Amino acid sequence: MTLSNFDKNLKKYAHLIANVGINVQEGHTVVIQATVEQIQLARLITKECYQAGAAEVIMQWSDDEIRKDFFLFAKEDRIAHIPEYKADEAKEWVRLGASRISIVSSDPDALAGTNSERVADYQAAIGKALFPLRQATQANKISWTVVGAAGEKWAAKVFPGLKTKEAQVDALWDEIFKTTRIYEADPIAAWNAHDEKLETKADELNKEQFDALHYSAPGTDLTIGLPADHLWEGAGSFNSRGEKFMANMPTEEVFTAPDRRRINGIVSSTKPLSYGGTTLTGMHFTFKDGKVTDASAEKGEAVLKKLLETDEGAKSLGEVALVPDPSPISQSGIVFFNTLFDENASNHLALGSAYAFNLEGGTEMTEEELALAGLNRSQTHVDFMIGSKEMNIDGIRKDGTRIPVFRNGDWA
Ligand code: ZN
Ligand code: ZN
Repeated sequence: MTLSNFDKNLKKYAHLIANVGINVQEGHTVVIQATVEQIQLARLITKECYQAGAAEVIMQWSDDEIRKDFFLFAKEDRIAHIPEYKADEAKEWVRLGASRISIVSSDPDALAGTNSERVADYQAAIGKALFPLRQATQANKISWTVVGAAGEKWAAKVFPGLKTKEAQVDALWDEIFKTTRIYEADPIAAWNAHDEKLETKADELNKEQFDALHYSAPGTDLTIGLPADHLWEGAGSFNSRGEKFMANMPTEEVFTAPDRRRINGIVSSTKPLSYGGTTLTGMHFTFKDGKVTDASAEKGEAVLKKLLETDEGAKSLGEVALVPDPSPISQSGIVFFNTLFDENASNHLALGSAYAFNLEGGTEMTEEELALAGLNRSQTHVDFMIGSKEMNIDGIRKDGTRIPVFRNGDWA
């Protein structure tokens, strides 16, 4: 590591994650998920959490190579077998109201060469077993944050032009620190100011209550209905205890839930998507009455088809997110091959489940009530990027009038 002040900045980053990301309070339980490569950051976050009063910090380690070997070599009957205690553990975290920190650092192609059916079977099984945890997370009952860390293989994929591993890792850390505002004199104050800005945009859209959005760009001509009483959200969210947290760091988006029954037209992806350890590119979708009727990809089509087969909800949309093309991540021109970063460079949509908090009163509704209100339900939620500087978006009011929302990739 030759990045100047790396240790000092990593400590600042850990402080930001504990105190703004999940906003640790006295007596909280914290669950951290990380790869073994990120032990330095995990240790720093753990210390920060205890300093902020955490009752317990629970560590969950993983490793890309070991994960790959599982999909390559594990016996068939073990792939989709999730032991009962895993589901119990997740339920216990929900009962404790545990906050979750996911540190993403994996090689975007970590699972390349494995059987995509086995990966999809595992993902469906784990999604089902951990459903209560996903539900609590998606309804913001608990605090959660997803943050990045520069894994070696990931850094190599983002910066293939740099000569040494060290230079690649440094360059990725530098981007992570930049986009999470660690280089600011006071990163916490910078985050609060940023949060306020996004909140203002969300408020404006909430007042409008558009009936639908119409997207146009090369390869895209799509109308997405929005449910009555939908809520646009900015960066910050509140858990069921009323404590603020940041679900993603970095984040540049304001987003809401679409009406799963009113999506029509065609849409094309504009950035690669790393999903299930494979990179998908050049995706095209046709929607009719809320369902994907046709899908293709230049790369990773088999994985995409498998994803769409996860369940009925995987064929519809659960998120509509607006990110201006002049966002700092987009302007960096870097393709991160990681949704946490790439989604913040671009307008995006998500296949699969909608967030209950994107509907007035949604967090208190049952699954059935959410579906009736138009919110998509699914075991999966996968963002894909559709924005570009050529994208125009109109908001359509109930009476049919059109209001420009985006012009040439930026807020109108
Ligand atoms: Zn998003
Ligand atoms: Zn999403």
